Amino acid sequence: MNIDLAVILCLADEKKNQPFDDYAAGIAGCMLEKSPEEKAFLQRYDIHYYIAVNPEESSIARVVDADYTDDMVKGKSFGVVFNRDMLARLEHEDSLAFVLGHELSHIMWRKGFPRIRDLAADEEAACDCSSVRLMHAGGYNLLDVAAVDALYPDKIPGMRERIAKRESFLIENGIFPGKRLGMSLLLRKETFAGLQKEPWKRKSIFETGKEPDAVRIAEELRDIFERGDRTEFKRELDAFLDGKTTEEASKIILNVLGRVVTEFPPITETLARDDSRRKFYNHPVSVMSDIVWRQFRREGKKLLPPEDLRIVSRYMQDNRAYFEQRDRKFWEPLQRAMAPEAQVKSNISGRI
Ligand SMILES: [Zn+2]
Repeated sequence: MNIDLAVILCLADEKKNQPFDDYAAGIAGCMLEKSPEEKAFLQRYDIHYYIAVNPEESSIARVVDADYTDDMVKGKSFGVVFNRDMLARLEHEDSLAFVLGHELSHIMWRKGFPRIRDLAADEEAACDCSSVRLMHAGGYNLLDVAAVDALYPDKIPGMRERIAKRESFLIENGIFPGKRLGMSLLLRKETFAGLQKEPWKRKSIFETGKEPDAVRIAEELRDIFERGDRTEFKRELDAFLDGKTTEEASKIILNVLGRVVTEFPPITETLARDDSRRKFYNHPVSVMSDIVWRQFRREGKKLLPPEDLRIVSRYMQDNRAYFEQRDRKFWEPLQRAMAPEAQVKSNISGRI
């Protein structure tokens, strides 16, 4: 998972980010109030604003697709993530408004908002122009854009051209920054400067010296479902199972699946809900899918505890739409292993 998203999930979980989210949403509201077309367009999406503490990062903000889609065109929820240390170097809310308007413009660009596509052929320049237009409509001081430019050294490729394009856009549209009377607003740093949140990382359950059992693995799957960040866990679980015989590995997997499948909303239901893509990707069945695929393709005898097997086969029948279509490839090796065992099993009474 990308680090921004990890921070988002963690901060959202702890509600520490709320004051900043409210503050930034207020600024966006001011800018969009006088830009009804942009406002109507952006209202189709769920957008929240976050602070991330990420000292290695040199950009001031970025848009993250909070739906986990690879393709922003499909996503409906977005996080605009501001880099705390970069943002803290600005003095005025008006500078923040420029950055915020630029990031919102990226969403509009990706989603094909026509008014922004007409501004410039280049996405960055178009987002800059769109942002100054929003700022101007919202009464923010355009002179404070210079403070944002000053954060970036001259040597960033294309920066000079971007600024030049923005300036000619202002002139063409009869917007003269210097003419505006009024004061810039101070940036309310108290909403974020004190946030000490390090990029959040899931703690490994495989490094404690004590081998996790199916119960512990199932607990971790619950936490992933609730808080995200499945990538490292999957890699480690796979490596852990690689260290076992195929019999042990398949038994652990069945034990885990037997536990988790009944404790969570059915995978087909989660998949069908338009607003819960994050839940779908972090659903235990989804997390376990390629682990099943890798482990059940290993050469060797598999051990399928009858009680778990019964629960899992039942679940697979009830959620056919997922197992037979969506991720069929991943589950085929397990289904193949299940078929003969299931027949044999019906002749023996539940013994393991
Ligand atoms: Zn940009």
